[in-house]
Amino acid sequence: MADEKEQLRYDPAAIESKWRQRWEADPALYAAEGPDCGKPKYYVLEMLPYPSGQLHMGHVRNYSIGDALARYMWMRGYNVMHPMGWDAFGLPAENAALKNNTPPREWTLANIAAMKRQFNRLGMAFDWSTEVTTCLPDYYRWNQWFFLRMYEKGLVYRKKSKVNWCPECATVLANEQVIDGCCWRHEDTKVELRDLEQWFFRITAYAQELLDDLAKLNGWPDKVRTMQRNWIGRSEGTEVDFFLEEKVDQGTGNREQGIVKLRIRVFTTRVDTIFGATSVQLAPEHPVVMLLTADNPELRLEVDRLIDEQKKAREAGDVGAIDKHGVDTGHFAINPYNGERVPIWVAKYVLLDYGTGAIMSVPGHDERDFEFATKYGIAIRRVIAPVDAAVEGADKLPLITEDGVLVNSGEYDGLTCAEAQKKLQEVASRGGFGEAKVIFRLKDWGVSRQRYWGTPIPMINCPNDGLVQVPDEQLPVLLPEKIEITQQGGSPLGRVPEFVNVKCPKCGGPARRETDTMDTFVDSSWYFYRYIDAKNDKAPFDSAKAAYWFPIDQYIGGVEHAILHLIYSRFWTKVMRDLGMITNSEPVERQFSQGMVIKDGFKMSKNRGNVVSPDDMVARYGADSTRLYSLFAAPPDRDLDWQEDGVAGVSRFLARVWRLADAHGTSVDSHPSSTERSKDGAPSSSQIETSSPSGNASPIEKKLLRKMHQTIAKITKDFEGRWHFNTCIAAIMEYVNELQAADAQLKAGDVPAPVVHEMLRNLALLLAPFAPYLAAELWEQLGGDGAINRHSWPVSDPELAQEDEIEIPVQINGKLITVVKVPAGSDVKSIEAAALADEKVQSRIAGKTVVKVIVVPGRAVNLVVK
Ligand SMILES: [Zn+2]
Ligand SMILES: [Zn+2]
Repeated sequence: MADEKEQLRYDPAAIESKWRQRWEADPALYAAEGPDCGKPKYYVLEMLPYPSGQLHMGHVRNYSIGDALARYMWMRGYNVMHPMGWDAFGLPAENAALKNNTPPREWTLANIAAMKRQFNRLGMAFDWSTEVTTCLPDYYRWNQWFFLRMYEKGLVYRKKSKVNWCPECATVLANEQVIDGCCWRHEDTKVELRDLEQWFFRITAYAQELLDDLAKLNGWPDKVRTMQRNWIGRSEGTEVDFFLEEKVDQGTGNREQGIVKLRIRVFTTRVDTIFGATSVQLAPEHPVVMLLTADNPELRLEVDRLIDEQKKAREAGDVGAIDKHGVDTGHFAINPYNGERVPIWVAKYVLLDYGTGAIMSVPGHDERDFEFATKYGIAIRRVIAPVDAAVEGADKLPLITEDGVLVNSGEYDGLTCAEAQKKLQEVASRGGFGEAKVIFRLKDWGVSRQRYWGTPIPMINCPNDGLVQVPDEQLPVLLPEKIEITQQGGSPLGRVPEFVNVKCPKCGGPARRETDTMDTFVDSSWYFYRYIDAKNDKAPFDSAKAAYWFPIDQYIGGVEHAILHLIYSRFWTKVMRDLGMITNSEPVERQFSQGMVIKDGFKMSKNRGNVVSPDDMVARYGADSTRLYSLFAAPPDRDLDWQEDGVAGVSRFLARVWRLADAHGTSVDSHPSSTERSKDGAPSSSQIETSSPSGNASPIEKKLLRKMHQTIAKITKDFEGRWHFNTCIAAIMEYVNELQAADAQLKAGDVPAPVVHEMLRNLALLLAPFAPYLAAELWEQLGGDGAINRHSWPVSDPELAQEDEIEIPVQINGKLITVVKVPAGSDVKSIEAAALADEKVQSRIAGKTVVKVIVVPGRAVNLVVK
């Protein structure tokens, strides 16, 4: 008898070690098949990690979600691509080199080896045959190749520009890498502005398309799309030239009616208010300001002070909140529409790199302009009247509305704001002093880094020929191995003569190599195309393979990449499309951003000392428990508050599953239930019969089968959409509880052995995406053939899943009185009869008239009683 048999203890270490060895010996297990396999393809991708040397709990969660999905899709009969790689360039390797005197390459590769062991220990189903390591020449040569193709297309250029400089990193940061004025890697280090010659990718050439295509990304979270829309920041408006009134002839233009034709181009989204412009305001670094201050040292001094304040505000990251501080230049500009003279001011809040670096100030209809004009005594004028004068506050200024008509605007009086915008644009464009204009907040992508551990930029500076491309046949430009890393400014590559000094490919004369390396976001912009053809040494990848695998069906990663990586990746895909390499315009069909893992209310971080090591958890509870908990503790899109008690609880649950299978599973001879996979990859229907009740099913058999089919249905539905894996796992727990509660009946033989066996096999199948080690072990013990993750996913039978009885609420005159139980599928008449027969209902309607009975089948009964 089972209760006399000594029960085997659940020993995750032993089970997981056994299966890990088997899986590692079988690399084809998780490999994708070719396009001719006849199955539908499914590309599931999790963001690749930076090889710091240690997986953290955020990784475990991210990869447990993707791994569950990959395993599920295999079981659904798809040809699954589930690769992994390493985002392996970047500064930490150089810092580590300084600290430990280990070369960056050595340090990085050792970390990769360590993390790969962790991945394997966790039982992640990655296809390592397509592994991509971005710091190795077989990958980064294609970064260089892309750089050259983009250079040829005019999508790469060099210019001197103000750059964000992190003194700690001793390198340039992209705007996206500056967070609240500080470095994204060094939260406490203020970013400075410096002037440097830099390489840029012309991402702005795709600004409109990047914006428009967001509308097609229905499988992306709204939050991510909104963040991208704001980052691209499209504004429609008008550029208008005010003319600089001549005071002193600077010899800078043609004198005409006392006005030098020097123009100050302003950008405005509200040209309809231009008759209310009472000053023109320039960014402190605007070229016209240079001109106006040339013979006025006092003014120059004040402007310099503004430049300084603006710089500080920028470094502090509060550009948007710069206070309303300005200087009157004493000069005037002429409004091109009515010839009015308005004073020219220099204002701290006007930024040179937004729009034209000059604005018109309309204090009557703009909050900020109103504040500024009030502070400095500049005229405030109404030029818009509300359509409905009775509106509250209509008589006050500033009046912020686009729903009005023009007043005090000469011949344009009476036009609506929208009409006036159109009309005034036409007039400007005909008169040659302006035009309709769309501007973007998105800036070109600065990719130059003065660092060692990145992709060398494949360009050469020749004294005769200027900038010369490295010829394709000389790629890759290899990073020199022997190099001294220091924290001093400038690129470390500049101090390696063998690297720097080259022959010019054009004239053969002595020339210098570019010593900047590329931003590591270049590496991650296209790595997922390399996975599908990782060994290709003729091209970045084969276009036919890309046509099969792309777009990625599901991409999973943290929301912190919503604007950096995910915009660059979209840009790169569009560039590759225009190079004729691919036909898709977007890389990712569905994007999922998982929540953070927190502990004690904060994100896990070394500084806080609240880090939980995955290795510790795996050693204590096993990989299955660690993974299962990371999916069970919260829905994937929410933050997960790590509780070790919870991991222990999940571990006890798996032990119960183990004992259940041990007690009831092994006594059964192999049951002829192995299911065939149909040709098209869809699950075959033959397995339904194996889950049917026997001829004279006992109530307990029916009950357990019902629970099983309900659980299958729930988890299947969740995988298709909501991904509430926490409730999926809770449903499996309920199913296990019912099986356990029926222990005595199962032992007494109330359920035929083959049916019990089938219930346990399906339990193993349901667990397979979440706890792959235990599932594989149970599968083998239950006589399942082949790898469980290639077995068909179970199919729920809706009839067997249906409850015998359902509960129906009964209302009298809209008030809930009671709930009655009726057999599932009851018709209107019998539901009505059941409701009227109920005791509580009887007592309420006694002596009254039932005017009406409304039955919503399966849902509710409403009685109207007088
Ligand atoms: Zn930094
Ligand atoms: Zn040359």
